[in-house]
Amino acid sequence: MSQSKFGRYGGQYVPEALMPAIEELEDAYQRYILENEDGFMDDFRTRLRDFGGRPTPLQHAEALSARYDREVYLKREDLLHGGAHKLNNALGQALLAKYMGKERIIAETGAGQHGTATAMACAHLGLDCEIYMGERDINRQRPNVFRMRLNGAAVNPVTTGRGTLKEAISETMRDWATSVEDTHYVIGSVVGPHPFPRMVRDFQAVISEEARGQVIEKTGGLPDSVLACAGGGSNTMGAFHQFVGEEGVELYAVEAGGSSLEVDEDGGVAPNSASLSTGSEGVLHGARTKLLQDSDGQIMESHSVSSGLDYAGVGPELAYLVDEGRVTPVNVDDDGALESFHRLSQLEGIIPALETAHAFAFLEEEYETLGEVVIVNVSGRGDKDLESVIEETAERDIENAPEMDVFRGGL
Ligand SMILES: *Cc1c(COP(=O)(O)O)cnc(C)c1O
Repeated sequence: MSQSKFGRYGGQYVPEALMPAIEELEDAYQRYILENEDGFMDDFRTRLRDFGGRPTPLQHAEALSARYDREVYLKREDLLHGGAHKLNNALGQALLAKYMGKERIIAETGAGQHGTATAMACAHLGLDCEIYMGERDINRQRPNVFRMRLNGAAVNPVTTGRGTLKEAISETMRDWATSVEDTHYVIGSVVGPHPFPRMVRDFQAVISEEARGQVIEKTGGLPDSVLACAGGGSNTMGAFHQFVGEEGVELYAVEAGGSSLEVDEDGGVAPNSASLSTGSEGVLHGARTKLLQDSDGQIMESHSVSSGLDYAGVGPELAYLVDEGRVTPVNVDDDGALESFHRLSQLEGIIPALETAHAFAFLEEEYETLGEVVIVNVSGRGDKDLESVIEETAERDIENAPEMDVFRGGL
């Protein structure tokens, strides 16, 4: 059986009612994923190719390479079906549920990206799908709600607490505890109780499996550094996994520094989502990890201009690799991310997700220290962010941004 912990992080801090579900999933993870029973992993890879559009390219970024005087390569997960790396995991878990004989899928979603990927995977596989989404998020992310419904999913509003991602996860776990017989919970990142962090990482590892071969083919060797933005940490772990054992490759997890790194522990609100850089050890959603909590251990509200990074915790494996000194946690603020959003759009003709823009902001700030060959994981495309980028840019003084006022009200 695979280990439930990464050093002192991870584990299975769940109510007793959930243990049967967790144990059944551990067994399925072992058999289908680790041992490829019934050819599960072959089926998964074929579907990722034909339905998902894998492999995604590793593109040499000419303008960025010239700007920074080194070779910058982009792993184009934005070109995966659905426009982000999320499908790797959603398709993997939905398929696993099918092999386990479950007919119903439940999932949480924050901004709606994971819910959208899960709804797509369920339609593809003929599974029933219910998505829990905070009421506030439903109002902020209408287009993704429509996408989920178009794919046949039911979207259940969550009205507890602030009505955002944290409450949606808790609500989905509650459903699962009473429905495990016919239901699988497709969690959206490398978080939650074991075996989720390992399993989601294994599904996302296809990113670095491909990138490793691609970069060797293009440059004759391994990269000097790999950059990925980190919310829960699934695109990060996916982009890092095949390089963790290579000591010469520096790994940078770029967190959302939000509007400030100063955290008022008694205020209940963190102005950032940088749990690796500013958080402390605690338990959230079934795992021990680094998180943003107040002096009483209550989870704080987090903040980021990008909703996909706006989470108070982070995957336990990433917390472990940071403690071990293998992964370097860094962060950039909201303004830096917005500037990079515009810069990448103009220089490379790629509109990145606001989450991804954080990785490019770090590249802009620190390129001199990153070596000759740099891979940036382009976790997703920015179409979903147009409305908020126009709002946020118009309110600030963002370098090189086009005149945003003219777009206001037009979208
Ligand atoms: C959801 C999302 C993220 C953050 O999630 P991780 O689990 O940290 O990868 C980053 N980028 C994009 C495009 C996303 O949709």
